[in-house]
Amino acid sequence: MQNELTCNQVLALMSFYVEDKLNYRLKEYVDEHLRQCPKCRGVYMQSKKIMHHIMSLTNESNKESPYVTKQYKDFKNNLSAYIDNELDEHESIRIKKIAISNPIARKDLEDMYTFKRLLHNSFDKTKNEWKSDYSKYIVNQVNNDAEKSYIDPFFKVIGAFMTLISIIILGFAATLYF
Ligand SMILES: [Zn+2]
Repeated sequence: MQNELTCNQVLALMSFYVEDKLNYRLKEYVDEHLRQCPKCRGVYMQSKKIMHHIMSLTNESNKESPYVTKQYKDFKNNLSAYIDNELDEHESIRIKKIAISNPIARKDLEDMYTFKRLLHNSFDKTKNEWKSDYSKYIVNQVNNDAEKSYIDPFFKVIGAFMTLISIIILGFAATLYF
């Protein structure tokens, strides 16, 4: 992968970048591009501002509201993942229920949708050129990189070890009881 991203690539990654969902190396490439490109830096600053506004829990007008409950905070933490379809069915329904019963949560959900649409619109402009979801492509590419392949064998070893321990314990138990 090249070290220098184009503006279109950076815009496609912006949503992930603002939410801090990028792999460390990819994040560095975007950092580097933003340092050099005022246009993308402008998009980033605006995205960050909107994101911060939506995610901020200590919004002055909401501070004393009876709707700012523990449940609402849980909603906030999962809001972005909910919109990106990253939650399982059970969690998804839970978030949906909070949004229906809580007006502040509902407002946040609408704001977040608007925000995501905004980011994806800027991405749509580049879509025809890439013919595929480029951001997902880059993220997948990076996910397949070194980091994962270091973790996987580790879990395999742990798995094998746990199986072995289970067999030994079962064998020991069997000798005691039979
Ligand atoms: Zn740029």
